[in-house]
Amino acid sequence: MIVVLKQNPDKARVERLMRRFTDMGLQINYSEGENTTILGLMGDTTRVNERDILAYDIVERVQRVTEPFKAVNRKFHPDDTVIEVAGRKIGAGYFHVMAGPCSVESEAQIVEVAESVKKAGASFLRGGAFKPRTSPYSFQGLEAEGLRLLLEAKRQTGLPIVTEIMSEKHLDLFADVDIIQLGARNMQNFMLLKELGRSDKPILLKRGLSATMEEFLMAAEYIFAGGNSNVILCERGIRTFENMIRNNLDISAIPLIKKFSHLPVIVDPSHAAGRRDMVQPLSRAAIAAGADGLIIEAHNNPRCALCDGAQSLDLPQFDAVMEDVKRRAVFEGREMAQ
Ligand code: PEP
Ligand code: MN
Repeated sequence: MIVVLKQNPDKARVERLMRRFTDMGLQINYSEGENTTILGLMGDTTRVNERDILAYDIVERVQRVTEPFKAVNRKFHPDDTVIEVAGRKIGAGYFHVMAGPCSVESEAQIVEVAESVKKAGASFLRGGAFKPRTSPYSFQGLEAEGLRLLLEAKRQTGLPIVTEIMSEKHLDLFADVDIIQLGARNMQNFMLLKELGRSDKPILLKRGLSATMEEFLMAAEYIFAGGNSNVILCERGIRTFENMIRNNLDISAIPLIKKFSHLPVIVDPSHAAGRRDMVQPLSRAAIAAGADGLIIEAHNNPRCALCDGAQSLDLPQFDAVMEDVKRRAVFEGREMAQ
């Protein structure tokens, strides 16, 4: 249920109203926008009578919300959320490109890629240290050593880092990571979602391979419910019957998320297709559909990559894609961040 307040409501009266709700055992998501103040009520609202609430003269309107996701619902928070991380803003028109290899392989590799993608205009370095691989015999990532190398690349280039967590047991290792990625395969790992909810790190939440939009937003709701509202959503392609590409980029997810939620959306054209020749066209589509950024795999030597070489751009290819992305993001009214 949402309670929309009249403009500039008297603070003492707002507090009295809020106390009434908390006395009923409800949680309140308080959102003060430019023009409206909204109280999002969470919990069992069946006993709340709309007429009683309308009797408060600070109340403009009362509305029941049918969607099961509340805190991430745009009805609760009409303005776009802007996530601030490492001195950068993400969302509401601030556009970012996160780039780097699928996995960190060596110091020379990650530093070379970081320097190159930074020069091309990327504002975050991505790279996996803990890798969720289908086969237990595939390269599993350098783990803690990979995180150390990412931090070294950050130290040398100044680029903040994005990297995937696979277990809540590793949270301490991620203390200096700027954005923690929760991968597609763990989108419904509820223990991990709860732990990330207790942390104050920005989370890049990737959509599960066959997750509906409601399941995706409910996963984000878990993180909010734990107290962490720094969530960035990532559309990375879903499974379909098509087998010429690895996944199918769900372009409609972008306007749908924008309609139902206030959270920023980043698109991953690399995992969406699994082919480097699709990265540029899918990036263009993502920008046109309203994405707040892209996360792109780039490698200094894709043919020898230990993971996802076929979808990784080499560094000159990444430069070319970035030139195109920058032009199109500006054309679509975004502010390209560095
Ligand atoms: C990745 O970013 O390298 C990755 C494994 O992504 P996803 O979880 O989307 O498959
Ligand atoms: Mn990958």
